[in-house]
Amino acid sequence: MINAYAAFEAKGPLKPYQYDPGELGAFDIEIDVDHCGICHSDVSMLDNDWGRAQYPMVAGHEIIGRVSKLGSHVSHLVLGDVVGLGWHAGYCESCRMCMGGDHNLCSTAKGTIVGRHGGFADKVRAQAISAVKIPAGVNPATAGPLLCGGITVYNPLVQFNISPQSKVAVIGVGGLGHMAVMFLKAWGCEVTAFSSDPSKTNELKSMGAHHVLNSKDPDALKKAAGSFDLILSTVNVKLDWNAYISTLAPKGRLHFLGAVLEPLDIGVFGLMGQQRTISSSPVGSPRVIADMLKFAALHNIQPIVETYRFEQINEAIEKVRHGSPRFRVVLSR
Ligand code: NAP
Ligand code: ZN
Repeated sequence: MINAYAAFEAKGPLKPYQYDPGELGAFDIEIDVDHCGICHSDVSMLDNDWGRAQYPMVAGHEIIGRVSKLGSHVSHLVLGDVVGLGWHAGYCESCRMCMGGDHNLCSTAKGTIVGRHGGFADKVRAQAISAVKIPAGVNPATAGPLLCGGITVYNPLVQFNISPQSKVAVIGVGGLGHMAVMFLKAWGCEVTAFSSDPSKTNELKSMGAHHVLNSKDPDALKKAAGSFDLILSTVNVKLDWNAYISTLAPKGRLHFLGAVLEPLDIGVFGLMGQQRTISSSPVGSPRVIADMLKFAALHNIQPIVETYRFEQINEAIEKVRHGSPRFRVVLSR
């Protein structure tokens, strides 16, 4: 049996919950969970903000643990390997996207917490291909957030060939945003952090932001007109997107990573005249996750976390629900 913490209704408290995971599939592994980050997507799923919840729900998809069971066909991992598991717990492995290395775009990819049980538990199951070995130099106690939030902000740098000459802005500096600032600094970019919380300014500068601006100040946006090659938006609220588009340089891109539920109200002329782009992407493939972990080790990038015990899960979730962590909450055993 697996001992987990499950929600039984939207916004309800998590309670101890045991389930039988059944027989281990030939291509699957079981992981003993040591640490699990709490992403805002966990709260959005638990609260059924996206209309995809099934209860009882065991959330948790920024998992670090040790391989404790191996399916008979798994050959690239051994028992005891320290691995990470993020948003995806499996892929079809045969579609065009999977064959091309874009597993995160597989239309039948399995979400770790979507119709399956995730990492707020002592164990979790996944297809072996979706678990990535944690390399030497990465601290398992703080690495969980890299497996979802970290890869989500790192992947666009690879997808869009961002160079050290690029000027990049990040809107919203919570879990995803603070990792974006650290990755961009190490990538060599000129980094601007847009935050609604002026009390974060000094911390953002010490993480590597060259400029810190108020994300809700129209004057700050006006002064930044025509500046950025890429903007990564990590907020899940509606902002003045047309004002942000006007801060893009020619051929610049506004890239949505935060799950804003309101439709975008964007004027085409703000894009057309300067060949600007808007786009979005989900997490990243296992290969890019592995590259990202090596990059994090090389540049000593560690998420800044507040650690809670698994038994304190309700307190920890409440903190994320109210947007107050600095900067990510991680549950540890
Ligand atoms: P988070 O830690 O709560 O950070 C969100 C940040 O947005 C906050 O720290 C805050 O930054 C800013 N913000 C929040 N409310 C705001 C408001 N009313 N006005 C202005 N700014 C506001 O959340 P997260 O875990 O980083 O996740 C961010 C979003 O990404 C969520 O929607 C999540 O579901 C999504 N997500 C997407 C992917 C993907 O694959 N695309 C993966 C993971 C997560 P400041 O205090 O600096 O203003
Ligand atoms: Zn996530």
